[in-house]
Amino acid sequence: MEDTSRRTAHVNAYVIGLGVSRRIVLNDTLLKELPNDQILAVVGHEMGHYMEGHMWVNLVSSILGAGFFLWLFARLLPFQVDRLRRRGVVSHTTDIAGLPMILLTVTLFIVLQYPVVNLESRYLEHRADTFALRTTHLAEATARLQVGFAERDFADPNPPRLLHLWFGTHPTIHERIEFALSWRE
Ligand SMILES: [Zn+2]
Repeated sequence: MEDTSRRTAHVNAYVIGLGVSRRIVLNDTLLKELPNDQILAVVGHEMGHYMEGHMWVNLVSSILGAGFFLWLFARLLPFQVDRLRRRGVVSHTTDIAGLPMILLTVTLFIVLQYPVVNLESRYLEHRADTFALRTTHLAEATARLQVGFAERDFADPNPPRLLHLWFGTHPTIHERIEFALSWRE
């Protein structure tokens, strides 16, 4: 259990660690504020991440993403340096004057990778939701839990489509409620 109530009223749970250090963390606010069936729904969701090894999926995709970025960067760098050299901004590849260009490229890559990373994240979150419903059979408590998230965190249950596709790490609250309520054993 994590003692977070002194910092925030936010209800939170997550899986952390790899191998033998893997654990599910529930914060104390969650244990105090939620009824037992909703706590069980949260644990079911986190168990889904745990049992399906989503931490490994995240680790592997982070390594692949970083590898792809370095590969792309190594190919783009000579062109960029050449362009800046012709303008007299830098004199060679390791010239410190090229640092803003490198920082700009990294920032651009971070912003552009969000839709891909978050597509994977939403898929894994949906799988965890499915696992929770299959194991706990708590469709109504799951729906109420999501309503609670919207109320407590003032989260938009139906955010603008593009914003959601770019930055949404979880299915929307509306989608998660619909999914829970349409769940059939
Ligand atoms: Zn999750």
